[in-house]
Amino acid sequence: MKRVLISCMLVLVLACAAAAADYAVDVVVVGAGGAGLSAAVAAADNGASVIVIEKMPFAGGNTTLSTGSIYAGGAARSLEAGFYYPPSEFANVIMTTSEGTCNERLARFVASESGLTVNWLAGLGVQFRPVAAPGAVHSTIPDGSGIIKPLLEACKERGVEVMLNTRGVELLV
Ligand SMILES: Cc1cc2nc3c(=O)[nH]c(=O)nc-3n(C[C@H](O)[C@H](O)[C@H](O)COP(=O)(O)OP(=O)(O)OC[C@H]3O[C@@H](n4cnc5c(N)ncnc54)[C@H](O)[C@@H]3O)c2cc1C
Repeated sequence: MKRVLISCMLVLVLACAAAAADYAVDVVVVGAGGAGLSAAVAAADNGASVIVIEKMPFAGGNTTLSTGSIYAGGAARSLEAGFYYPPSEFANVIMTTSEGTCNERLARFVASESGLTVNWLAGLGVQFRPVAAPGAVHSTIPDGSGIIKPLLEACKERGVEVMLNTRGVELLV
C-alpha cells in the first residue's frame, strides 16, 4: 500500500462536546479494535501519517473482550509445532461449515492470509498458547486483550495517535 493510494486528504470533523478540531492526515482509521489498529500499523509501516479515532473511552472494541482464538492455516507456529494445516484445507472447512453460502473467493483469500496474519501479530509481540494439535486455532494469551495491547504499543512506536472519546460522524473527501 503506497501513500499515493491513501493520499486523499480527509478532513475529519470531530464530535467533541468541548471543541472541534481539524486534522489533515493520509489515513483516518475509525475504530480502535483489532481490525482498525492493524490497519493503522500497516498504513504507518507503508509511510502514511495515521490517526485512529475511537468513540469509547478505551481501545479494543469486541476484540479485547474476545477469547482471542484466531483461526489460521499455514501459520509458522503450527509448523514449528510439527503440524501443517494448509490454508486450502481451512478454506474448505469454511465453505463446508457455511454449506457453500460463503463467498468462496473471499473465504480462500481469508484462509490464505490467515497464517501470515498470525505471523505478523507474533512479530508485534502477540503471545500465543502452544499449538497442541493439528488444526486451525491459534489462541492468544490471555485473551483478545493480548492482541490489542501490542497493537497499541506498535501504534505508539510509529507515532500513530489513538484518540479516545472521539466518534467519527462524517467523512468529507
Ligand atoms: C465474547 C466474545 C468472544 C469472541 N471470541 C472470538 C474468538 O475467539 N475468535 C474470533 O475470531 N472472534 C471472536 N469474537 C469475535 C471478534 O471479537 C470480532 O469479530 C472482532 O473482534 C471484530 O474486530 P473489529 O476490529 O472489526 O471490531 P471491534 O474490535 O469491535 O472494534 C470496532 C471498534 O470501532 C469503534 N467504533 C465503532 N463505530 C465508531 C465510530 N463511529 N467512531 C469511532 N469509533 C467507532 C468501537 O467502539 C470499537 O472499539 C468474539 C466476540 C465476543 C464478543
